Amino acid sequence: MKVLFSVDIEGISGVVSVKHCAMDSKEYDDARMRMTAEANAAAVGSYDAGASKVFITDGHGKMRNIKIEELDERVELFYGRPKILSQMEGLDQGIDKVGYIGYHSSAHSLGTLAHTYSGGVVDKLMIGDRMVGEFAMNSFLAGEYDVPVFFISGDQEAVKEAKELYPDIPHVVTKVPTGRYSARCRHPEVVKREIKETVERSLNHEGIVLKADDTTFRMFFKDAGKLDNLELLPEVERSGAKEFVIDTGDYEANYKLFRACTMLATVVSQD
Ligand SMILES: [Zn+2]
Repeated sequence: MKVLFSVDIEGISGVVSVKHCAMDSKEYDDARMRMTAEANAAAVGSYDAGASKVFITDGHGKMRNIKIEELDERVELFYGRPKILSQMEGLDQGIDKVGYIGYHSSAHSLGTLAHTYSGGVVDKLMIGDRMVGEFAMNSFLAGEYDVPVFFISGDQEAVKEAKELYPDIPHVVTKVPTGRYSARCRHPEVVKREIKETVERSLNHEGIVLKADDTTFRMFFKDAGKLDNLELLPEVERSGAKEFVIDTGDYEANYKLFRACTMLATVVSQD
């Protein structure tokens, strides 16, 4: 059994501020250590359940957050960016189950540090008629590879979003949001222990393959100033000043184009 964990930072316990998530901040080191510890707890739980291989994908920001020497030495880490499958890098390695660590809720939710993929750029993302966050967006990609999702840890709002698609998903709530930049955080040691135990208990029995019924991506952006760049992409259609649609009929192609759009939207046009 090969397992992949996609790891973000905003849903880790004890992470509540943008200062925790930014590499140049003094508070970042604490956050990355907690992120590493929660990811490692999931890996150890998987190996204790009989996994033959655990991959971890560092999925936050520049994707160089996890301290590799702190991981169980059997783990392999997808590190740095860009990665062709982004937060789901490794899905093409014959993965049997995928889980999520440190996940946060989507833009427009009440979660701590809530955003969708790129907080500064994406106002909201819809896939078909559903407003989605990163759990859904990434799980539908796993669905394209027929890989079941079996676990999530993150803040309470992120877990709530995951339950909309998978009501019985094995989970660990790391913190209860009390505001956009605040939360009632559970102790890191308790969270780590629960992640390890829940992963170990669930790996061999739980999981469902999630597929998008409608693969159309509708993107709503925050800053119209740089969005003209998106018209360079042939499969991307403008539907409003800040709205674009991607409808190639292929989920993975749409997923990749969406990410290309978020990158192009941050490139300032030449004066
Ligand atoms: Zn992140």
